[in-house]
Amino acid sequence: MRILAISDKVVPALYSPTVRQTVGAVDLVVSCGDLPGYYIDYVASMLGVRCLMVHGNHASGMEFVDGGALDAPPRDPMDIDGRVVHEKGLLLAGLDGSIRYNRNPRFQHTQGEMHLKALRLAPQLLWNRMAHGRSLDILVTHSPPAGIHDGPDRAHQGFAAFLWLMRTFRPRYLLHGHKHVYRQDEVTQTSHGHTTVINVYPWRIIEYEKMKDER
Ligand SMILES: [Zn+2]
Repeated sequence: MRILAISDKVVPALYSPTVRQTVGAVDLVVSCGDLPGYYIDYVASMLGVRCLMVHGNHASGMEFVDGGALDAPPRDPMDIDGRVVHEKGLLLAGLDGSIRYNRNPRFQHTQGEMHLKALRLAPQLLWNRMAHGRSLDILVTHSPPAGIHDGPDRAHQGFAAFLWLMRTFRPRYLLHGHKHVYRQDEVTQTSHGHTTVINVYPWRIIEYEKMKDER
């Protein structure tokens, strides 16, 4: 199973009629936030697959577009913030936004608030463990986890709650954005316990190998 993950930046090679040649066939698109709706819509519909998404901190109910203008929200993509979903045989959960760094209240959370959001996922994840033999395959977030791919400045601090989620529910992947990558040698993939943490900025293909008994 192949997943296209996108985040934070409109990539001309993907916002193009040749997107299918560029990325190949994929089964699912996942957006980690801070992308305009028209881009998410275009990429997913050109590839003919569903998109699951979380909002980034620059969203305000609608996604933010380069230059500051607000765009209409994407039509079809499913916002999975605070939700656990079962899509194409995968168990996914989403947590949106970033650490709180200014007075704009929406899509910014304190560490404590994110702990609460993470805790609210727990009943469904425990249910998954009973029903499917595993809790979670992919955790989709905008922000990185604390200490992994995050930054020293306040706005790019990662969330400690994601470390707890990884430790407790052992997802195979955590896909995040928010931390723009400017240097070639910047680390964008890190193994943490059972989880591979990937900064998808601005896009990544995830080759997801399903175990035989996964359903
Ligand atoms: Zn962001």
